[in-house]
Amino acid sequence: MQGLITKSTGSWYQVKAGNEVIDCRIKGKFRIKGLTTTNPIAVGDVVDFDMEPDQSTGVITNLHQRKNYIIRKSVNLSKQAHIIAANLDQAFLIVTLASPRTSLGFIDRFLVTAEAYDIPASLIFNKLDLFSDEGLAILGDYKDIYERIGYPCYEVSAKEGTNIQQVQDLLKDKVTLLTGHSGVGKSSLINRLLPDLDLKTHIISEWSDKGMHTTTFAEMFELPEGGFIVDTPGIRELGVIDIEKQELGHFFPEMRERMNECRFNNCRHINEPGCAVLEALDEDEIAITRYESYLSIYNGNDTRA
Ligand code: GDP
Ligand code: ZN
Repeated sequence: MQGLITKSTGSWYQVKAGNEVIDCRIKGKFRIKGLTTTNPIAVGDVVDFDMEPDQSTGVITNLHQRKNYIIRKSVNLSKQAHIIAANLDQAFLIVTLASPRTSLGFIDRFLVTAEAYDIPASLIFNKLDLFSDEGLAILGDYKDIYERIGYPCYEVSAKEGTNIQQVQDLLKDKVTLLTGHSGVGKSSLINRLLPDLDLKTHIISEWSDKGMHTTTFAEMFELPEGGFIVDTPGIRELGVIDIEKQELGHFFPEMRERMNECRFNNCRHINEPGCAVLEALDEDEIAITRYESYLSIYNGNDTRA
């Protein structure tokens, strides 16, 4: 039988097959070439499984090819990675302009990560109800920066329910990674989208009677109208598959589209003559904040706020 992994603890996997949900274990080894992982299978994976003779649990026998996956790097064992989720259709970063304010560096690092994983990304500005006139002007500036380079921006209020229907439409029938730093209102938004789920108590209670601790693992929640949300602990933990400095520009769409016009094909876009990126920057065709993020990541500075 074929199913979708909707939850994992590292030893148990919840597999959704049709309308049924079966707890499964793994038999055999599942490895990704060139990557040592602490977990072989993650939420979003499509697997084949067989039922155990007693028909109450299952055994996973095969992992289907992934279209993409996101990892978290182990801090101590730099070669080991933890797969957070697989087969994502899109990634949404929840952003706030106040209490707390999300920095542009943080947004850009998220977008670079999404580009590196080849996952379409959007920004959701939450707490619209708190925006003053000044806040709305900043929102306009941010939207201008990101929409013209191909990242859709949406504005919502999880508190008041503003534009939630629009987000629901975007999520329908898709597997969506939803993330953001603590305090942006991710739980509030998820509670709007899944009113029957009490997120904070849910994570602790379910499965704990089986002695499974779930906190380090991402989880997928099925939406009433179809599709899934993948909830992760936060982008801070998301590791990009190592990006070579020389390749960083490829993950900035506005640089990517210009850099083949640079005079030198190994241009770093820092001080080279005939650099098409620097020319575009001069002409305000590339946002200075985006370029600053490029330099910051290039120089290995931690831009995560
Ligand atoms: P999380 O850490 O991202 O899960 O954020 P929470 O959902 O726990 O929200 C953090 C705080 O922001 C809480 O006090 C929420 O009530 C508040 N909050 C969330 N969404 C909104 C919103 O749209 N407007 C306002 N004014 N407050 C919000
Ligand atoms: Zn250049």
